[in-house]
Amino acid sequence: MILTYKIKHNKDFSSELKKAHQIAEVALRTGTQTTADVKQYGLKSIIANQVLREYARNRKIKRVGNVNLIAPSQGISVKEHKIRVPSLKLEIPYQFPDNFKKINQIEFDSVYAYISVSVEAPKAIKPKGFVGVDLNTTGHIAVVGNPDSGKVLKLGKEALHIHNKYKSIRKKCQKNGKFGILKRIRNREQRKIRDLNHKISNKIVETAKDNQYGIKLEKLEGIRNNRKHRKNFNFALNGWSFYQLQQFIEYKAKLCGIPVAYVEPKYTSQECSRCGNIGTRQGKEFVCQSCGHFDHADVNASFNIAKRDGIGQFSTDRDVLKGSTDTPRGATLRTKETPNQEEPHPFQWWEDVRYVKAIS
Ligand SMILES: [Zn+2]
Repeated sequence: MILTYKIKHNKDFSSELKKAHQIAEVALRTGTQTTADVKQYGLKSIIANQVLREYARNRKIKRVGNVNLIAPSQGISVKEHKIRVPSLKLEIPYQFPDNFKKINQIEFDSVYAYISVSVEAPKAIKPKGFVGVDLNTTGHIAVVGNPDSGKVLKLGKEALHIHNKYKSIRKKCQKNGKFGILKRIRNREQRKIRDLNHKISNKIVETAKDNQYGIKLEKLEGIRNNRKHRKNFNFALNGWSFYQLQQFIEYKAKLCGIPVAYVEPKYTSQECSRCGNIGTRQGKEFVCQSCGHFDHADVNASFNIAKRDGIGQFSTDRDVLKGSTDTPRGATLRTKETPNQEEPHPFQWWEDVRYVKAIS
């Protein structure tokens, strides 16, 4: 799989970026793919070549916008936690795990280097069961439940607090006409939520790994139109933060061989996880009139998610859902919540991982 780490390069590339922009304009205008044609701009040909490849004969691009520098894998070397990019006379120290197979390319904008690396993911384990992850805009952002053991993890209670805090700051700024600050505040909020998403995903994957469970997530397209979420469709606690959290969970799980499956989100919050009938949900309380089951609504939803077939999952996989039933349902063990306690994690993500493409 491919991971992209985003780190600050601490170098002034304004002159190179300007040259790249000029080259892109030439490429778009003339369609040339020959570095000799743009030699006069003085950008190293290995970099210029990447710009030409992107802009020449690309009919989708009508005008040149932001042009980044792209250094291909040739020439890049790695030694003692430093990446050397000779074509840009650059040496970047990095902190991320150096278990990658190779660097595919590095893209540079004025502030960041986006380092794309290939990482060998282990073969997925045969899980003893699944945890379901229920995402919510109120209360805890993620509620993780395993219906076999009855164990539940509630994570990210602070998300709503973060969101409300920035919402009120944004309102004040809008009222006072301080629009310049708005973008900065948006970025700060995004950073906070991202950090939180890293913590939550670490915890979920760690728990799954410890118990040899797979992870089931709700397919997100459904969440946007889901009645449960529609009312609370707000800036930070909506699509992008859920999507980011799922991405974090997915790539971290893949890195340690934990299978991840997506399920249809329909009725996950209305169905009774014990008998399957539709119950009533009021706030965070779920009651089933058919069997009398009473539970925390998000916990009930997480159990439903865990029990559902994954999309594209074969029916033979259903057997793996039947894990240990040693713990009777009544004796539900709830994990203690320690929201303020920073726990050391086996996974450390010093840099931001921008996206992940699962190739295998
Ligand atoms: Zn029921």
